[in-house]
Amino acid sequence: MNKQSASDTLALLGGPRLIDRTFARYNPLGREEVEAAKKVVESGVLSQFLGCWDPDFFGGPKVQEFERQCESYFGVKHAVTFNSWTSGLVAAVGAIGIEPGDEVIVSPWTMAASATAILHWNAIPVFADIERETFCLDPDSIERNISPQTRAIMSVDIAGHSADMDVLRKIADKHKLKIISDTAQAPAAKYKDRYAGTLADIGGYSLNYHKHIHTGEGGIAVTDDADLADRMRLIRNHAEVVVEDKGVTNLSNMIGHNFRLGEIECAMGIEQLKKLDAMVASRQRIARKLDKGLAGLKGLKTPAVLPGCTHVYYVYAMTLDIKALGISRQRLHQALTAEGVPALAASYQNLHLLPMYQKKIAYGSKGFPWTSDICKRDVDYSKGICPVAEDLHESSFLGFGICSHVFSDEEVELIIEAFHKVWRNLEALR
Ligand SMILES: *Cc1c(COP(=O)(O)O)cnc(C)c1O
Repeated sequence: MNKQSASDTLALLGGPRLIDRTFARYNPLGREEVEAAKKVVESGVLSQFLGCWDPDFFGGPKVQEFERQCESYFGVKHAVTFNSWTSGLVAAVGAIGIEPGDEVIVSPWTMAASATAILHWNAIPVFADIERETFCLDPDSIERNISPQTRAIMSVDIAGHSADMDVLRKIADKHKLKIISDTAQAPAAKYKDRYAGTLADIGGYSLNYHKHIHTGEGGIAVTDDADLADRMRLIRNHAEVVVEDKGVTNLSNMIGHNFRLGEIECAMGIEQLKKLDAMVASRQRIARKLDKGLAGLKGLKTPAVLPGCTHVYYVYAMTLDIKALGISRQRLHQALTAEGVPALAASYQNLHLLPMYQKKIAYGSKGFPWTSDICKRDVDYSKGICPVAEDLHESSFLGFGICSHVFSDEEVELIIEAFHKVWRNLEALR
C-alpha cells in the first residue's frame, strides 16, 4: 500500500475531485462589439457587395475599414476578408494559379480545410510529416515529398507557433513553389520581426467563434502581392461575371463564389482586432505559469518556443514520453479530466487517415481526381507515411485549450496542482 493520504487518491480511482467547478466559456465580445454591430443594423446596410465590376465589388464601408486595419496591424499591403477562413484558403489556392492535378504539400496535423482547399481545385494534397517540437511541417519531409507536379506548400502554424519560414522559403525558392500559410490558430504570433502568416505568398487567419478573436464566422487573407490579392477578391465575389468588365486577361481559376463577409462582422472585427494584443498577452501569461508549474514532471514536455518566435497558445500543446510514464495517454487524460482539468484535447486530426483519403473518394464515387488522367502518380496516403504526426495522434500528444475558457490565476494554480496529483499517483494508474 502507498503512504499517501486519502485525499490524494485520484478521482478516477474513487478519491475526491481536486477541481470542483465549471469554467466559464471564454467570450471576447464586449460592449464595443455590441455598439459597433448596433450602428450597422441601424444604418440598414448589412452588406454592400455587388457581384459585378462596380465600386461595390469591394464591399461596403465596414469591410473596407476592417481590411485597411488588418493591413496596418499585420504590416501587409493587402488584407482580404472572407466569410470563413475555409473560404479564404479556397481562394488562396485558386489565386496562385493551381492547375488540376498539381500537387500541394500539406501537413496532416491540422483542421480539414487546409487540405480540402487544395482538392477544391482538383489539385492533389500530398501529406508531409511534422516536427515534434513545433508540430509544423518538417522541412526534410517536405523535400522528400516534392515531385515534378509540386506547385506549392501549405504550411500550417498550428497551435499558435509559426513554422520556420526562412527554411521553408529556401525550399520554395529552390523548387519554384508558392507558400500558403494557414495561420488560423496563430494571429499575432511573431516570426523574427514579422507576424506569422505574412511571410508566405498568402497567409491568413480564422475569425470563427473559437479562435483568438472572432466575428462568429469569418476569415482574413493577407499578402504583399497585388495580383494575388486581386485574384482572391475575384474568387470571393463571382469572378466569372466580373473579369470582362474589369479587364482581367488571366482567366485561370476565375470561378467565383460568394465568400463575402458582412458589414456587422467587419464592424465587430474592427473592435476585436484592437483587443488581440491584450488577449494574446493574457494567454502568454497563463502559459508562463504552466511552463513553470509543469516543469520537471517526468515524461511531460511543455510547448517549445523557437528562438526569434513568440507563441500565442491557441492550444498549450504538450507531448508525452509514454515509455517513461508507463501508462497510456488515454489513461492520463481520463485521470486529469476526472480531477476536473477542462479543455484537454487528446489530438488534432491526422487528415491522411480520414475515409476520403483512405478510400480516395471525393468528387462523385469513382475516385476523382485521383483516378483521373490529371493525377500523374499514385499518391500514398497509407498509415505510416507521417510517423511523427501519427505517433502524436495515437499516443503522445496532449493539448490544453487556453483559448476556450476564462482562467483566473488561482484556477491555473489548481490545474497545475491536478497535474502534480496525477503524476504523484502514476503508479496507482499503471
Ligand atoms: C479554424 C481553422 C481553419 C478554418 O477556419 P474557419 O474560419 O473555421 O473556416 C483552417 N485551418 C486551421 C488550422 C484552423 O484552425
